[in-house]
Amino acid sequence: MTIRENLTTIKASLPEQVTLVAVSKTKPVADLMEAYEAGQRIFGENKIQEMTEKWEQMPKDIQWHMIGHVQSNKVKYMAPYVSLVHGVDSLKLLQEINKQAQKTDRVINCLLQIYIAEEESKFGLDENELEAILKSDAFKELNHICIKGLMGMATFTDSNDQIKKEFSRLKAIFDKYKDNKSQNTDFSVLSMGMSGDYKTAIDCGSTMVRIGSSIFGVR
Ligand SMILES: *Cc1c(COP(=O)(O)O)cnc(C)c1O
Repeated sequence: MTIRENLTTIKASLPEQVTLVAVSKTKPVADLMEAYEAGQRIFGENKIQEMTEKWEQMPKDIQWHMIGHVQSNKVKYMAPYVSLVHGVDSLKLLQEINKQAQKTDRVINCLLQIYIAEEESKFGLDENELEAILKSDAFKELNHICIKGLMGMATFTDSNDQIKKEFSRLKAIFDKYKDNKSQNTDFSVLSMGMSGDYKTAIDCGSTMVRIGSSIFGVR
């Protein structure tokens, strides 16, 4: 199957309200261009340097999503163009994104990453940490970021029940905050689901799926 065929098949399987992020990390620009020619305009990368190199080379109507763990000292490289930062998991990082966004006169959209998996290795906030950030005075001062919602990754497992349980928990947390609009929060995006579990994620209420290998092939 070609990249175009994979994209067509996946898009046909997504409900209308679900946004597809084509995860292109490690793939060459030629592969991304194939997806672009097939109409894809949202790409997800997990390294700021790689994303910036691709942004420089590719058409400017692409929305670039940072889906990986963000190092504070690299935020400045993506601040001029990044469209959504999925993996924010500390107030300190939000403050740095806010600072760099201010320098380029932008408001940068972010998702807060919630820890839902059983694995020790995954990044993210727990519910108490999320609540503490959103309630803090320091957060309320950040005028150059907007929290658009939450992101999470389920445990890498064959157990669909387990995955369902984790995604449902994230959806419940999302629902708790989605009506609380403020000057820098506007919950509308729930980013959950990858190649192996996106159908389950959609059943659990995902509004944005991040799909890599099912589009571009194994990495
Ligand atoms: C790599 C990656 C994906 C895509 O994974 P696939 O299994 O290739 O679809 C989604 N989300 C994050 C955070 C990733 O790092």
